[in-house]
Amino acid sequence: MVGARLDELNGRLLIQCQPGQAKNAARVAAAHDTGLVLTGHTPGPVVRALREHGFTGPILCDAARYAGRRRAFAESGPGWSWTAEQHDLGLLALTDSGYLAEHDWPGLRRILAGAARQPGQVLPVLPLAARWFEHSVDGLVAELNRASLPVAVAIEHQKDPFSVRYLIRGFLSLLAAEVPVVLLRADVSAVAALAHGTHAAAIGTTTALRHVYPRTGRLPVPRLPSISAFVPQLLDYRPLPTIAARTAPSWHCDCPECDGRPLTTLARSARPEASAFRHSLSAQLTLHDHLRDHPAPVVGWHDLCASALAEHRALAESLPDWHTPTNLRAWHQLTRLPAAVRNPPRPAASS
Ligand SMILES: [Zn+2]
Repeated sequence: MVGARLDELNGRLLIQCQPGQAKNAARVAAAHDTGLVLTGHTPGPVVRALREHGFTGPILCDAARYAGRRRAFAESGPGWSWTAEQHDLGLLALTDSGYLAEHDWPGLRRILAGAARQPGQVLPVLPLAARWFEHSVDGLVAELNRASLPVAVAIEHQKDPFSVRYLIRGFLSLLAAEVPVVLLRADVSAVAALAHGTHAAAIGTTTALRHVYPRTGRLPVPRLPSISAFVPQLLDYRPLPTIAARTAPSWHCDCPECDGRPLTTLARSARPEASAFRHSLSAQLTLHDHLRDHPAPVVGWHDLCASALAEHRALAESLPDWHTPTNLRAWHQLTRLPAAVRNPPRPAASS
């Protein structure tokens, strides 16, 4: 059994899911030797059921008190009973932190101090407003180093936090902290985060679990009820009818669920929703497995973005409404050149 210790999460891409999705998600996770982040208030029965059914991978429990319109705020501090329940289940405990608005330094210290006082290994959750990554990262790193506690971050943004370059830059600076950083609630950018040295990261199974939306403001308009699937060549999700409409035979998938079959077969399977669910997770985990074995994962991720952007460009030429994901552009632009070229040493002052 793994998952009660932080070092056992090292380098793992986890699946963040709702309790009702845990059985299907665990099947995929087990095939890739990874684990789950269960999201909800009462994970106990699901954790016990997963263990009884033989799932031995790591499990984290995210209370998600920081999300939604009725969210808790960081000032309330982490609760003891929530972490005690996870320890009783044999798990590494996440705190049930409230939301950390920009500049809420007292709230940040409250979460870190509250976690430090609790017995057993506790991973403080920092649900951060995106703006923390614009001007406050150095202070944030200093607080984390002072607390000397590993942390799990979830990042609030109206759309996709990793679609803006200041946030990617800030997130990569956060990784300079002397403590391990885990990323929760992400999309395929979780794969990128791992390539850049994040201790562990979680991809969400639904749009809501891939984001933390602001409390106020417009929530995204619900999509039409079509089933979507992750297309590895695009590094993005697309509706099955879109995948089926595309006749090029190049969209095959080498994830264990598809075993080389074309993605068009997902729509023809007996249970398209379940097939698309398992394929989408498995395909992203396969990408991560390949990158982990790459001699230079950052270069590998950059090349994946370049090739996906080329595929998007080709499609956009014939499909005027085609949407190219902005996170790929942001990652690609930011990692276009080696660090030594991006930040050249200053020339010595001439005498
Ligand atoms: Zn697949």
